[in-house]
Amino acid sequence: MKKFFAVLFSFLMILSLNGCGKVQLGLTSHTDVAMGTVINLKIYSTDNKNYAEEVMGLLRELEEKELSVRAGSSEAAYVNANAGSDAVPVSAQFGELIGRCLEVGDRSDGALDVTLGNVVKLWNIDSLAGGEAVDFQLPDESALESALASCGNDKIGLSEERDQISLRADTALDLGAVGKGIALDRVRAYLQEQDGITGAVISVGGSVLTYGSKPDGTDWKVGITDPFDTGKVLGYLTLAGTHCISTSGDYERYVEKDGVRYHHIIDPHTGYPARSGLSSVTILSEDGFLSDALSTACFVLGSERGLTLATEYGCEALFVTTEGELLMTEGFRQLFGSK
Ligand code: FAD
Ligand code: MG
Repeated sequence: MKKFFAVLFSFLMILSLNGCGKVQLGLTSHTDVAMGTVINLKIYSTDNKNYAEEVMGLLRELEEKELSVRAGSSEAAYVNANAGSDAVPVSAQFGELIGRCLEVGDRSDGALDVTLGNVVKLWNIDSLAGGEAVDFQLPDESALESALASCGNDKIGLSEERDQISLRADTALDLGAVGKGIALDRVRAYLQEQDGITGAVISVGGSVLTYGSKPDGTDWKVGITDPFDTGKVLGYLTLAGTHCISTSGDYERYVEKDGVRYHHIIDPHTGYPARSGLSSVTILSEDGFLSDALSTACFVLGSERGLTLATEYGCEALFVTTEGELLMTEGFRQLFGSK
């Protein structure tokens, strides 16, 4: 009889499939789209709950209420809409996030710049999809110059209590460089609150969270994409427990015109895609925000200055040069291998 109920229970769990989410015994496996990218969830639990809906709800709320400059409902869009006016009130979470962006911006000599909104728009980065863009036009020089003049940490005011933000007229926030990392931090906080969850791997585009442990007790393996052949990996990180891994690369969103690759990571000092001799940067950290913010900043800075910055923040890093050379911190080397 007991066996009958166990079988019936499993059957009911399968019936409760939601969207493309899938519940097996103790495993939530789900693929979806949010923040303009693909989300993959694998969550192991001792209960048989399907966690996909709650995690996706959390990501959508983060996108729509805080980060998206495309959704009129978000705090980022609200701040942008009020550029040039008095400071506007923001939530504690959003204020804290902007404070952290400004700090990394300062410490990276402006390599991370979340006020690049107008420059990002001029390059029409949303339309860059990895290859040929039929109607791609280089931005007009003078338009780029004036867009660039609207960027920089000095164009944003954050109150000491981090509860009010002002932007200079014509300045616009763009949180594309940090959004996925923040998403990992929020998901990790959610996972920690759930008694039944023992382990998870969450990927939000190029950012991955490993959490807890695998059911069979083996380590997590996270493949690092080969920037010269994105169908392949350069190797794997072998990780025990909770970590965040973010990669920024010139192969994610780009267009090639007249033999030149124009990609989506902008050097705020020039307004053009960064030419720092790198094809990708991967940052390993316990902190999702830092992994994402630093992967972008280090890509702009190049391997030498990037290595210094990543080390200052206590993060491990891998740099892949445009020549295909791999440079990494000692800690990264110890965790990285071909299997
Ligand atoms: P990263 O290196 O982490 O970030 C690069 C991005 O940051 C660029 O695309 C640009 O937006 C910005 N950036 C470039 N240079 C710098 C710099 N020096 N300093 C600071 N920022 C810089 N894309 C869509 O096409 N459609 C959508 O609807 C959409 N919605 C999104 C909603 C949210 C909340 C977020 C966070 C992103 C969204 N995106 C959308 C963007 C998309 O997912 C980007 O590809 C992504 O943000 C870039 O991440 P990355 O890890 O590849 O690169
Ligand atoms: Mg980033």
